[in-house]
Parts: sequence; structure tokens; C-alpha cells
Amino acid sequence: MSNAANSGTPPRLSAVALVESTIRCETGLRIGAAESTIAIGGLDNPVIRNPLSGEPYIPGSSLKGKMRSLLERRYGLSQDWPIDRDRVHVHVCRAEGPYRECRVCTVFGVSAPKSGRWFCLTRLRVADVHLSDSSRAALREKPTDFPYTEVKTEVAIDRFTSAATPRPMERVPAGAEFGPARFTLFQYEGDSLTDHLGLLLEAMELLEADYLGSSGSRGSGRVSFRNIRVELLDFPAGGGLPQRSLLGGPYPTRAEFVQAFPSLALPS
Ligand SMILES: [Zn+2]
Repeated sequence: MSNAANSGTPPRLSAVALVESTIRCETGLRIGAAESTIAIGGLDNPVIRNPLSGEPYIPGSSLKGKMRSLLERRYGLSQDWPIDRDRVHVHVCRAEGPYRECRVCTVFGVSAPKSGRWFCLTRLRVADVHLSDSSRAALREKPTDFPYTEVKTEVAIDRFTSAATPRPMERVPAGAEFGPARFTLFQYEGDSLTDHLGLLLEAMELLEADYLGSSGSRGSGRVSFRNIRVELLDFPAGGGLPQRSLLGGPYPTRAEFVQAFPSLALPS
């Protein structure tokens, strides 16, 4: 929830909190590429790669979208916004009143209102996450099925005839690390950083319990957050450069961040 004024004058941007973390693949990770990007002669189910470097990466939109959907389930929010030609419904607050009371939309954002004029600020930005330097080097040295990835073959079995159909699936292997991932929280006057950072922490916890990418129910996509640090850029009201301070960390694991969270010296 946010207390920032949403009508009249827009609230002042007062601080930016930067949360950085390594994302470790505890199992193989599969974030699929759009079918149009499949090269002729390539694998049927490729992972998404940076077209310039050829390296797999975690799109910020996948990370943010998964965290948002887990929080929507955790808070039982209505799924009434149709997307993808009505095939999928998601939660989006469409009026100022519900938006101001909504824990998720105030942080993760809403699309611009079709009617009326109110401040619907997206506070959380999640950047694309690239392979860590050490994992890039390690994967270059190891002979993998494809550059940086393994191919896992899953078999679909006909329950009547027992006929089996193998289906190859590309994954980033378990043990690979991406990072640093960067979560940026914009704070406006009246916002509670404790609430917003707490929500991000909840989302991290839910994501560790669930999975990222696809094939989660068949073993892929378990990730953990490591080496977490929180920095604050405090923008003085009268102007001038921000004051930068380390609020906490580095915490080796998400659990240690959770433990330290109540004692962080967060601005009120
Ligand atoms: Zn909402």
C-alpha cells in the first residue's frame, strides 16, 4: 500500500532502493524463446539467449511477472483484466481507489488508466539478468550439449498403448548462477520503504518455493537468491546529489536477509 498523494501535485521522488542479488539455479532452468527465433536446424524448445553474445539470460519481465503472479495468488487478488485475446486474465486495479489500497499494483504498476487522470506510479523495476562472470567461464570450459546449456529429454507416454514420444528440452544446467540481478524500488514522499521492501522479500521467498520459467512441475526452474545487498540513494528535498548508503548485506542467502530485515535502519 502507498500513502503517496495520488491527486493534484505528483509526489516527490525521495529515494531509490537498490537490491542486488545473485540468482542460483538449483535445478536446470528453462526460460523459452519465442518460436520465431528458432534457427533452422536448431532445437525445438530453445532457451532465450542474447542475440549478440549467444548467452542465455533471465528477462527482467519474466522475473517480475512471476513474482507479481505469486503475490497476486498470495493475497487472493481478482484476476479480471483480459490479455492475449481473452485467453489469460491477470490482476490490474483500474480505478484510483482500489489502486491506492492495493499492495501489488502500487509496487508492480498498472497500465495507464483509460478514464480519469490519476498517478499510477510503477515503483519496482527489474532488469534483465545475465550469467555471472564465474558461471560464464565455467560453462565455457565444460562440454555441454549446446553453448552454455544442456538438453534434457522428456518422454510423453500414451497411457493406453505405452507408445513413447521423446521431447528434447534445452535448459541452463543446475549450479549456474546469474547476476547480479537488480531490483530497483522508487520511493515517493509518503511511501513506506519497509512495506515495499518487505513485499519484494515476500516475492523472493515465494519464488524460491515455486519455480521460474517453464517445466516447473517436472523438475525445472528452482532458483535461490544469494549474496543480497541493499543500497539506498536518498535524494535531499532541497536539491543536490543523492546520499548513497549501504542499508544491509551482503547476506549469503535469502533466509539471512529475512532474519536481518526487521533490524534494517530504513528511512521512515
Ligand atoms: Zn491491484
